Amino acid sequence: MIPLFETFPGLKENLPFISLCDLPTPVIPLTKLAKKVDIKELYLKQDGLTATPFGGNKVRKLEFLLAEAQSKGAKEVMTFGFSGSNHALATAVHAKQVGMKSISMLVPQTSHPYVERNLAMSRQVGAEIHFYPNFDALERGTKRQRFFHCLKTFKSPFIIPPGGSSPTGVTGYVNAAYELHHQIQQNQFPRPDVIYITLGTAGTFVGLLIGFKALDINIPIVPVRVVDDDFMPPAKVVKLFEETVTFLSSKDPSFPKLTLTVDELQIRDEFFGEGYAEFTSQGNAAIETMKETEGYNLDGTYTGKTFAAVLEDAKNGLLKDKKVLFWNTLNHHQQTAE
Ligand SMILES: *Cc1c(COP(=O)(O)O)cnc(C)c1O
Repeated sequence: MIPLFETFPGLKENLPFISLCDLPTPVIPLTKLAKKVDIKELYLKQDGLTATPFGGNKVRKLEFLLAEAQSKGAKEVMTFGFSGSNHALATAVHAKQVGMKSISMLVPQTSHPYVERNLAMSRQVGAEIHFYPNFDALERGTKRQRFFHCLKTFKSPFIIPPGGSSPTGVTGYVNAAYELHHQIQQNQFPRPDVIYITLGTAGTFVGLLIGFKALDINIPIVPVRVVDDDFMPPAKVVKLFEETVTFLSSKDPSFPKLTLTVDELQIRDEFFGEGYAEFTSQGNAAIETMKETEGYNLDGTYTGKTFAAVLEDAKNGLLKDKKVLFWNTLNHHQQTAE
């Protein structure tokens, strides 16, 4: 049973869940890299290995989202993103695995090889893909497609928000906090002094934050921004936190009524660069350092920028006495559907 359900039987009773992941994901010491950049101890939480054939952070959210879709009798799910969206791809792959079709509603982004790769794999698993030139057109297109799909299947497609970051999706990362806590209790690795995580649609960060607060363990989590402040301002992060806590305590009244203020958030904005999916030289250097020292792949849109924050803080001597956990959210598998 997943650790969140062990602690909160009411959630087990009231929250639909389908197992898609191979959990817990491993935590790997990066000894060479820690020595090289003057961090006392450095570990990587390998959420690249959550699932096959496509892992990464979105699959933890989909364990709850696709289960909710099924419990509502949906045959199709509809989700949204930029054209290279890992989330849209993860949804397409895992929806298919549980017998549902996925509809991806996409807007353009800066071109990179991974964008084409993700689109090709989405097509390969049978996703229906619609492109729109901008968010206004996407909104109009969404109304039309919902209507068409209702006519065609007599059922509304189940709507999954961008990044899977609804209270239901965020629950996957509340569980991930419990999973990490378990691993620490079993002495698989020491309790980290600080955790670095990527902040996109914020579900990953917010889920961990709720989990740690519920567990009453005080490990600072450093969120590193990779999307525009207009898209995910701090107030919206707080709102997602509050909605998720309300959701969980409505499913199990013993879930604590946690709170968060904007002042508690210390979002790191300085690694974002020119825009979403605009690679930065610092991010590229961080990818290179990880690759040549430890052999792991990071990416320029998300995890490279996050790891750049780790390296910058190490360079400034802030981590030489610290045990640091870098939470890797990037799919680790070769992207072939089979
Ligand atoms: C989507 C994504 C993120 C961001 O996660 P959010 O929950 O949207 O903040 C981070 N890393 C990778 C590789 C992603 O695909």
